Amino acid sequence: MAAPTPITVAYGDGIGPEIMEATLRIIQSAGANIAIETIEIGEKVYLRGVDTGMDPGAWESLRRTRVFLKAPITTPQGGGYKSLNVTTRKALGLYANVRPSVSYAPFVHTLHPTMNVVIIRENEEDLYAGIEHRQTAQVYQCLKLITRPGSEKVIRYAFEYARAHQRKKVTCFVKDNIMKMTDGLFHKIFDEIATEYPDLEHETWIVDIGAAKLADTPEMFDVIVMPNLYGDVLSDVAAQIAGSVGLAGSANIGDQCAMFEAIHGSAPRVAGQNRANPSGLLLAAVMMLVHLQQFAVATQVHNAWLKTIEDGVHTYDIFTDGVSRQKVGTAEFATAVIDRLGETPKVLTPVSYDLAQPMTLWHQQVQTKPDKRLVGVDVFLDWDAGSPNDLGDALSRVTYGSLRLRVITNRGIKVWPDGLPETFCTDHWRCRFMGDNNEPIPPSHVVSLLQEITQAGFEPIKTENLYFFDGVPGFSAVHG
Ligand code: NAD
Repeated sequence: MAAPTPITVAYGDGIGPEIMEATLRIIQSAGANIAIETIEIGEKVYLRGVDTGMDPGAWESLRRTRVFLKAPITTPQGGGYKSLNVTTRKALGLYANVRPSVSYAPFVHTLHPTMNVVIIRENEEDLYAGIEHRQTAQVYQCLKLITRPGSEKVIRYAFEYARAHQRKKVTCFVKDNIMKMTDGLFHKIFDEIATEYPDLEHETWIVDIGAAKLADTPEMFDVIVMPNLYGDVLSDVAAQIAGSVGLAGSANIGDQCAMFEAIHGSAPRVAGQNRANPSGLLLAAVMMLVHLQQFAVATQVHNAWLKTIEDGVHTYDIFTDGVSRQKVGTAEFATAVIDRLGETPKVLTPVSYDLAQPMTLWHQQVQTKPDKRLVGVDVFLDWDAGSPNDLGDALSRVTYGSLRLRVITNRGIKVWPDGLPETFCTDHWRCRFMGDNNEPIPPSHVVSLLQEITQAGFEPIKTENLYFFDGVPGFSAVHG
């Protein structure tokens, strides 16, 4: 037998220790070939003053084993504590968050008895880059970052996952009718990568109607890939409409490391009572076993769990009179699953991971550097001393080289020249200065222009350079 694979385990907070104990007992009874390193994370570590909730020794273990089975943690109330999950995902490069949502009708109540959807959420960027600023008395900003490599990684993973797991279709959710550059890039890369997978159907939905369809007719979806924020929200919706967030596991996959956890939190109100459902963490552990290529053990555990659910042995959260047969606690549920190892479900569809194909993961594409030309600058001002026309008149007198004021917007709507008096304005103004006919301008002219603006009595709070890339504008057009 091969040497056991080292994995890092954290028991977490609240119900964490109970559900982790149950999970490990089940997978070890099934013969999981693992060597466990335990680390402490979460509330106690935060309260010791470690703002990430994880000690340096814990990081060492994770970087050594590269596989992390994590129970939920409690983030202490109050400010100053960083999200352990967000930090772990970004620090270890866990770019794909994989969340299957499956119905177990008629044994677990759901309005969608044939639902079987996997949401693959981009995990590192989008509005979760955590780059936020207060810029004026009235205005706060959060930067949405979508990158080519970040999008390529998660989208390729989605197609590879679909192929390896015998799925038929990959759907992309974006909002590129509004965010034409950021979500537009995600959509474009999705279309590019889809051409490499002619055996799989692909389609794109605008996220609003896509979300409505997902909530109403989830059967029409198979694998869905989407940017971080949409994926965060919709994977919880999907898990809940499949039956319960308490049943869903998730995998956070990177090129070098992976983390597996339930999607629910530490449920402090039921902690320490042997009541919590360990299913979410157990199904996450099944995903871990697949990742470790221990396919037979993964298959056996998953089928025994399905049989337990089918036999009506249920924890309180999914217990329904007339459907469930036996209400059990966490430890008894684990024993029931162990008793069924080697059995397969009769009504629910059994799983088989033996067919799982190895996946081709992302590799850096060779990209030619685009020709990049500076043609202007958006100068953002903190200003509340008059009307848009007052500002336009004053700034029209401020120039440098060929840089001249062309347009002013407030919250993205054009207010000068020819704005509408009805448009509501805040104290945050974007003033677009460009040269003539998109001619290139020297970067030093931007700095000199800022000096002129400051000397004219205005307060620039930030700038965004305006570039053309290979002759295509790298900035959004002005509305209004
Ligand atoms: P929660 O998921 O802990 O609980 C939501 C509801 O679901 C509660 O009614 C709870 O009793 C129930 N529930 C959740 N898991 C269950 C299970 N396995 N069995 C039975 N019932 C279950 O969400 P919350 O109450 O918003 O958060 C509690 C704490 O968990 C907070 O400190 C939060 O920061 C943390 N949290 C951690 C993670 C994580 O570590 N990945 C994720 C979400 C929330």
